[in-house]
Formats: sequence, C-alpha cells, structure tokens
Amino acid sequence: MSNLEEHSMELERVHPSGAEEWVCHTCGRRFLLTWPPDYTKVIINAGDEQAVHNGSKGGVRLGRPQVERLAEPTLSEDVRRELEAWLEEIDIDGQLGLAGQ
Ligand SMILES: [Zn+2]
Repeated sequence: MSNLEEHSMELERVHPSGAEEWVCHTCGRRFLLTWPPDYTKVIINAGDEQAVHNGSKGGVRLGRPQVERLAEPTLSEDVRRELEAWLEEIDIDGQLGLAGQ
C-alpha cells in the first residue's frame, strides 16, 4: 500500500521580480519559483514533504495559461452588450405579454 498523497500546488501570485509563489492548500507547502535562466526554488514552508505535489513540475503547462485566462474577461464588450440588449428585449416582450392579457 502506498501512503503517498497527491496534492495540487496553485500559483498564488507572481512577484514583481518574476518569482512565482506557489502554495498547496492541503498541507500549507509554499515556495518561490523563478524560471530559467535563473532557476531557483526557495521553500518558504515545507508542508507535507511525503506528499506528491502536482503543479510544481508541470507548472509551465498547468499554471501559466490559467493565470493568463484570468486576466481576460470571459465575454468581450460587444458580446456582452448584445446579450444585454437581447435580454432586455425578451423582458419587455414578456411584460407586454402579461399586461395585455
Ligand atoms: Zn501539499
């Protein structure tokens, strides 16, 4: 039986220096990571060192696209405006329908 637990590291913030602060919400592990050419890893809180921490090694693939996606709005201004106009139209039609009967 393996007692290895799998934890997910999450990119919590990126410091102005470019260092990424990763945290595991399961055991409190926390470290600073700087990408090559100056690759360094500074452990702030060791947490559960027996656990397998995903995200630290696959950080480029897992972490970065999520952060970039968060910075962008889900809907573009045009789509949002169109949707609001459409919803308003539906609402007005509904009220007129109720009032007319
Ligand atoms: Zn952990």
